[in-house]
Amino acid sequence: MSSAETYALLEQKMPSYPDYASIPVIESEEPLVPLKNNELLDSLQIDPAMLAVTGTAVYVREEVADKLQVVAENLAARRPGSQLQVVYGYRALAIQRRLFEAVKAGLPPEMSEPEMLAAAHRMIAVPEVAGHPTGGAVDLQITDSSAPLDFGTDIWTFQPGSYTFSPYISPRAWQNRQLLREVMLQTGFAPFDGEWWHFSYGDKEWALHYNQPSARYNQLDFTTPNLDG
Ligand SMILES: [Zn+2]
Repeated sequence: MSSAETYALLEQKMPSYPDYASIPVIESEEPLVPLKNNELLDSLQIDPAMLAVTGTAVYVREEVADKLQVVAENLAARRPGSQLQVVYGYRALAIQRRLFEAVKAGLPPEMSEPEMLAAAHRMIAVPEVAGHPTGGAVDLQITDSSAPLDFGTDIWTFQPGSYTFSPYISPRAWQNRQLLREVMLQTGFAPFDGEWWHFSYGDKEWALHYNQPSARYNQLDFTTPNLDG
């Protein structure tokens, strides 16, 4: 089997836009909170577009922040010296819309609207179902003495090799991806197997993965008050 065929098979197993579209949300009203760094958990905002919205802090829903601390503790017990490093949490809805429209604009104009939504969603989530604007999704990796472990690709490298179950990575990278996946799922996060670094709780992806009747978090418009004035 060629690598293109292998990746096509892996992609078929990932949920698509219509799978999410019909999931209702019963909003939990949990606030967004900034992640607090400590010896087990490190966070760093890597999207320059978000600096005007949240400054350098990574914001997530309160329960997500609590769960990440538990993940970091479990990880340190499994692999002493490890730190959980979160590089993205909440993304402003306006940024998600801008990214999505840019991808959609690059698609063949003869496509129908539903075809466009499904095709664009494979590259960047449709804003109405996207996880990051809910504060429930996070992008993260494991570091050791501040250096990322070998995950086969760098975080945020959008290529087929970033599919969690890509067979074209080293055994070490495979192990590291599985370790991250295990500690995240153990604490109730859902995986997105198109990006080894992306997990979520409470959003539609999470509801679909765990067969929940509804999601807990809606997309939010938010700017940290600390940046005003
Ligand atoms: Zn993500």
